[in-house]
Amino acid sequence: MPLHLQTPLIESDAYGRPGHQVWLKMEALQPCGSFKLRGVGHACEAAAARGARRLLSSSGGNAGLAVAWAGRRLGLPVTVVVPETTLPQPKALIAQQGAQVVVHGSSWMEANDHLMQLRQPTDAFIHPFDDPLLWQGHASMINEVAAAGRKPDAVVLSVGGGGLLSGVVQGLQAQGWHDVPVVAVETTGAASLAAAMQAGEPVTLPAITSVATSLGARCVADQALAVTRTHPVQSAVVTDREALQACLRFADDHRVIVEPACGAALALAMTEPAQRALPVLQQAQRLLVIVCGGVCTPHADLVRLLDAA
Ligand SMILES: *Cc1c(COP(=O)(O)O)cnc(C)c1O
Repeated sequence: MPLHLQTPLIESDAYGRPGHQVWLKMEALQPCGSFKLRGVGHACEAAAARGARRLLSSSGGNAGLAVAWAGRRLGLPVTVVVPETTLPQPKALIAQQGAQVVVHGSSWMEANDHLMQLRQPTDAFIHPFDDPLLWQGHASMINEVAAAGRKPDAVVLSVGGGGLLSGVVQGLQAQGWHDVPVVAVETTGAASLAAAMQAGEPVTLPAITSVATSLGARCVADQALAVTRTHPVQSAVVTDREALQACLRFADDHRVIVEPACGAALALAMTEPAQRALPVLQQAQRLLVIVCGGVCTPHADLVRLLDAA
């Protein structure tokens, strides 16, 4: 039994225009607030089946929360090691799931090193984006779109480390939808896929400077770059301001709060079709947007960050 829910596929009256439908795959409605539960839940179930005695994560965001949520349902203890910089909201939600939260070090690297020292042979480490089990779990959202009898002309999604991108492309290919292009959106200051696609090889950004913390992988998974070579994928980069504005507009239009990481993808879908920068988005009559969600930025923070951006 998968741990994730089947999510609604909503045709947006707010962003659709005559001849241009916008469909929202509402991953924000997963019980822990993001699509992460699909892949993480699948990886955690596989770990439990292998006999793992404990689940480990070094994500202080939606991936760590998904591991905590999955572990609780599977009856496995969870330890999440996070750096001091972790936001209070996700930390509280991870603890609320009964996971042990260990705060260690000033960067993700230090927290991750500490986690590796704690690691026992019977532990399963759940990566936030770089694992074939995650991609397989994420691919299920495309199966649901196909089961609803809907084939989009293009898909818009956000990219951090590229797990979501890898999974969605896998899902599209499993449907034989090799002709459905994906627009992979990042924010300025977290655009590691854009840099890698431009260079034609993995690129490690010197730092993450975007408010879209869930897109803050300094280097994408090799698989994310690999799928850009086997599937039509175009990169797009929006500003923090555009992503934040999109979140607040989405809250008004669809009454759901999402992170700037998700606002990045929404920003493209909200733009009038004729004004969209990419021809593939101008032409798409049926645009599928993955509303990936995220719990790390409460509404008041969105407002505050937009004032400062
Ligand atoms: C993890 C996450 C992303 C990025 O997903 P990747 O698989 O790392 O590319 C985007 N949005 C939200 C809300 C996330 O939690």
